[in-house]
Amino acid sequence: MVELEGLSVAYSTPRGPVCAVENVSLLFARGGIHAIIGPSGSGKTSLVQAMAGLFVPQAGTIRIDGSPLSGIRPRTAVIFQDFGLLPWKTVIANAELPLLLRGVDRRERRRRVMPILEELGLESFLELYPVRLSGGMQQRLAVARALAAEPDLLLMDEPFSSLDALTRENLQETLLEVHAHHGATIVLVTHSIEEAAYLADTVTVMTGRNPGRISARIETEKNARKTGESGNKSFRSSPGFLTLTTSIRAALEAKS
Ligand code: ADP
Ligand code: MG
Repeated sequence: MVELEGLSVAYSTPRGPVCAVENVSLLFARGGIHAIIGPSGSGKTSLVQAMAGLFVPQAGTIRIDGSPLSGIRPRTAVIFQDFGLLPWKTVIANAELPLLLRGVDRRERRRRVMPILEELGLESFLELYPVRLSGGMQQRLAVARALAAEPDLLLMDEPFSSLDALTRENLQETLLEVHAHHGATIVLVTHSIEEAAYLADTVTVMTGRNPGRISARIETEKNARKTGESGNKSFRSSPGFLTLTTSIRAALEAKS
């Protein structure tokens, strides 16, 4: 689904160019949940923004579904840590925004967005403004808005980092449900070893700074956890989960 080949991203600064990531090659398979984990400054956001088509990388190519990426792509949705909601628009207006921008009429917007808002437990808050919602609800709204665009690729940059632990676990469950239902390929940047282990089919570990590099790629055993509804939660306390978090931690600690 997403292929990065020899990707380098650099920024020009008053003190000369800063190389954020260098020569990264990665493959994210269609339909999977793929985590990218690494310390601050290792270039995770730069990778996500390049995949979102927000800038042209200095070197390398990005292909999505086999086509070279050139700029923003309608079926890619991006969710940031600060949610990116419009404070002056209500819940329903925020959720409908991608459809409004595409010129979809009001009735059709409602028809498409209401089931998504219901799925995310927001149907009773349609006329509230984001400031009245808890952090968890705001992030649910950001997920709803992303889904309204009917994405086949969902890029998430530390989406749950600012939430408390329980809200975060709740949203992780929601994300698994949304993924099972909507089926977009998800690339998720996270600081959390547990989150990567719990959600992802592959975990890409980044290390270093200026430039950051890939230090490991861990394939998780998907069938260990995709075993029905309660199978997911019990995965958190299983021996397989501990093995996985241990290997991610080891890869993070290894010097590149
Ligand atoms: P991460 O998301 O892993 O924290 P980033 O991709 O944000 O990493 O940053 C990687 C490196 O690139 C850092 O050293 C950062 O200082 C630098 N960087 C990021 N964005 C810019 C920018 N707009 N201008 C200059 N340097 C930047
Ligand atoms: Mg970042």
